[in-house]
Amino acid sequence: MKIAILPGDGIGTEIVAEAVKVLKSLDLKFELEEAPVGGAAYDAHGHPLPDATLSLAKSADAILFGAVGDWKYDQLDRPLRPEQAILGLRKHLGLFANFRPAICYEQLTHASSLKPELVAGLDILIIRELTGDIYFGQPRGRRVAPDGHFPGAEEAFDTMRYSRPEIERIARVAFEAARKRHKRVTSVDKANVLETFQLWKDVVTEVHKDYPDVQLDHMYVDNAAMQLVKEPKKFDVIVTGNMFGDILSDEASMLTGSIGMLPSASLNDKKQGLYEPSHGSAPDIAGKGVANPLATILSAAMMLRFSLNQPEAADRIETAVKKVLAQGLRTPDIHSDGTTKVGTREMGEAVVNAL
Ligand code: NAD
Repeated sequence: MKIAILPGDGIGTEIVAEAVKVLKSLDLKFELEEAPVGGAAYDAHGHPLPDATLSLAKSADAILFGAVGDWKYDQLDRPLRPEQAILGLRKHLGLFANFRPAICYEQLTHASSLKPELVAGLDILIIRELTGDIYFGQPRGRRVAPDGHFPGAEEAFDTMRYSRPEIERIARVAFEAARKRHKRVTSVDKANVLETFQLWKDVVTEVHKDYPDVQLDHMYVDNAAMQLVKEPKKFDVIVTGNMFGDILSDEASMLTGSIGMLPSASLNDKKQGLYEPSHGSAPDIAGKGVANPLATILSAAMMLRFSLNQPEAADRIETAVKKVLAQGLRTPDIHSDGTTKVGTREMGEAVVNAL
């Protein structure tokens, strides 16, 4: 089992170090190989995704990724910015299916911005299509407006597009995932306004015929944003496009108390995957030793389950995380009265001890 370790920038290096400790404490044999990515790779090699890092990622069964980015790179041309490394990895590895579970741990219900009764026991899975939609659609650019409300003015434009096969494959991923859960899929679209999402809705409905045991509902994205804070527990699996998924998954992350608790997985059709916390490089707390490593540790658990076929080891890590929360250990982002504040390293070590 070969794992590429790409810590990246900011808190990325701190949190990945803890997840690596957890992996090494399991009775499993891994080949772990580290490479720079993002701003760290730009500083060392002049590119956020150097060839050596990309070929390591391609040759690995799975990638454990920290986070990339820092304000100091904001002046760089877009292709050289740290965040391009993630887009490049998604594109080169064909990572089209992004899994973001939002689970509210019993001990953290009070850390949520919603009333505890709304989030207690929350366990939803957002599946976001990751390689299409308005983020990748061509053409895009800036120009002098040929028409519109202000002809002759400077304007910018992007293209939203999805093809039938792209929608079919993500719909299948969602129905398969729902079969292993509570067998309900909510497909989120904006079919009332956008052609792209009318096709989305039609294709998801067609694919659903192959999964009669799974219940399918359709919901407009504006309503989904509302329902996620009104009655989040009514969802099981949400499947949606790249941009809507980006926004809704961040919204869902706050239901669970902290973005520092949320893992994610991005998979291709060979089950090769990139595993990373849902948050960024948090430059505001980098180097302080206070970042919550649990999202990254839980991402390592997802990696064991989805790419490395080690579901028991994944269960063990998730149980160990619950155990340290039950012990009352909290990094500052999830700390509340009556619990013990710990740093990144202490939290990682507590998980290792619980294992
Ligand atoms: P962010 O997720 O880095 O931080 C948002 C807030 O959450 C900050 O207050 C931060 O301190 C806090 N936070 C994040 N992770 C935490 C953790 N593990 N423990 C405790 N607190 C945590 O988002 P941002 O501030 O918008 O972006 C910072 C940089 O990260 C930018 O350069 C952005 O482009 C980049 N970014 C990278 C990724 C990625 O690598 N996948 C994702 C999002 C943002």
